[in-house]
Amino acid sequence: MRILAVADEVEEGFYGDTLTSMRPEIVLGCGDLPFDYLEYLVSRLDVPLLYVPGNHDPNLKLPDTTWTPSRVEPPEPGPQGCINVDGRVTEERGLRFAGLGGSLRYKEGPNQYSQGEMVRRVVRLEVALRLKRARQGRKLDVLVTHAPPFGAAEAKDAAHVGFNAFLRLIRTVKPALAVHGHVHPYGRVIPERLIGSTRVVNVVPWRVIEL
Ligand SMILES: [Zn+2]
Repeated sequence: MRILAVADEVEEGFYGDTLTSMRPEIVLGCGDLPFDYLEYLVSRLDVPLLYVPGNHDPNLKLPDTTWTPSRVEPPEPGPQGCINVDGRVTEERGLRFAGLGGSLRYKEGPNQYSQGEMVRRVVRLEVALRLKRARQGRKLDVLVTHAPPFGAAEAKDAAHVGFNAFLRLIRTVKPALAVHGHVHPYGRVIPERLIGSTRVVNVVPWRVIEL
């Protein structure tokens, strides 16, 4: 499986021919990218694009319409033609993906969580994974997040240090790959890391990953 993962910075070069020549089979968006950029990627490549929101993205949670009289479903917010996997488990191209968007809370706004709030989101995701595994007998292949697992990025400041809950999730569920954004490499190529057997990749601004 050839994966193109993108995050945080628009790659101007993708508006030329380099994009299609990479021939990815799936695109993963790790957050903080303009929606029209994601829509451009999905329409140009014509492969599934799974994404999670970053801390600079708008709130994508659907309003609760349980008690409103209108039966009209509100349109799914976010980039059109792309699949929001925030807090969800999904299968594409024979692999199982799960996503967790957002960063550590550092100011008011959507898509930010305390360590404790992220623990609860991770627990909910693990329940969904366990149910799927019980029914279909497969584990998680790829974890898509915006923030890094705690300690996986060199960042030390509060906004970028990452989530303890991601670290525990990776150690427990052991996906083959965990991709994240949020930590800007400022021109350096950040090497892949390993947490147990899981490859952890900072994809800012983009990476092609063979899995
Ligand atoms: Zn971010």
